[in-house]
Amino acid sequence: MFRDTWAEIDLDRIKHNVSVIKNYTDYDKLYAVVKANGYGHGDLEVAEAALSAGATHLAVAFLDEALRLRKYFTAPILVLGYTSEDYFDLASENDISLTIIDDIDYDGFLNVQLKIDTGMNRIGFRDTNEIKEIIKKINKSKNLNLEGIYTHLATAGSDDVYYENQVAKLNELDLDKNLIHVNNSAGMLAYRNFFTAGRLGIAMYGLSPYEGKLPVELKQAFSLYSRVTNVKKINKGESVGYGTTFTATMDSFIATIPIGYADGFLRYHKGRSVEINNKQYKIVGNVCMDQLMILVDDTIKKNDIVALINDNITVDMLAIDLNTINYEIVCSISDRVPRVYKKNGEVIKMNNYRF
Ligand SMILES: *Cc1c(COP(=O)(O)O)cnc(C)c1O
Repeated sequence: MFRDTWAEIDLDRIKHNVSVIKNYTDYDKLYAVVKANGYGHGDLEVAEAALSAGATHLAVAFLDEALRLRKYFTAPILVLGYTSEDYFDLASENDISLTIIDDIDYDGFLNVQLKIDTGMNRIGFRDTNEIKEIIKKINKSKNLNLEGIYTHLATAGSDDVYYENQVAKLNELDLDKNLIHVNNSAGMLAYRNFFTAGRLGIAMYGLSPYEGKLPVELKQAFSLYSRVTNVKKINKGESVGYGTTFTATMDSFIATIPIGYADGFLRYHKGRSVEINNKQYKIVGNVCMDQLMILVDDTIKKNDIVALINDNITVDMLAIDLNTINYEIVCSISDRVPRVYKKNGEVIKMNNYRF
């Protein structure tokens, strides 16, 4: 690692989160959702930690993500998004379970799960007759195995009535309860367990799926660090960065940090604080592609460690400040940023995606 910017992932915290949620929900099947490189935390590392802490299945967004996991894991892997029938053979050969969202014309050896649209209006079957027909077709086939039937929640934790309507729609279909799963993180924390399985995403990473009190204590696994590369004193009236959006009202110390919007530390962070030696300092001027500047004092020195995300400047706080959701903050941190993994307080591994 030749660059002073890195994300730190605490694998013990991921395990803690999985374990408290597993105990709380008591699900037979718990899917660890590791799409989008494990919400930016690292898909392989999170999958391993989650499986060791009680998750039984893995889930991702599309087939490419699933095939990557299959090289390392024997656990069942479900693709949550749509997969073209052109790639069903490939999924079959690699024992990947696929989500079916409309009629299929395939009779290879494949585990399938039906996606039912109960109110998200994204993907899935809506029509009762179509659902009966596809189940009949799958059951008639010797090769297709109906492994699950599920729906996705639009408002869990924030609108109980909408949630109950979604579940009611599913119940009206009178399907095999042993196959059904409904809850994402918000669903399982707001309403405990429904049916026998749940799909755990954001809460596994220690981030809140909704505002308000949670029934278990989650621990944020992600933090983001850099080091001061340059400190300078500028005079009153001098400005900083592209567009000269900050002008010093007095003689000031400015420190430069090698992280920018190409690392996923977006321009929206302008004006927010970062932490050096337990004290917070403001980002001034526009965030550049690879660097940003902060207004500091004479105590700050070259090579000082800067925390951009930690237990004091949390992902949840950033999300609220940036008027977005915690998911987007961690998913945005790009593959230019090496991920350092900690277990029992010690660094056990580093992924530099450039090598
Ligand atoms: C991403 C995803 C999940 C996980 O959701 P979280 O809110 O992160 O727990 C569950 N189910 C489906 C279908 C998803 O796409």
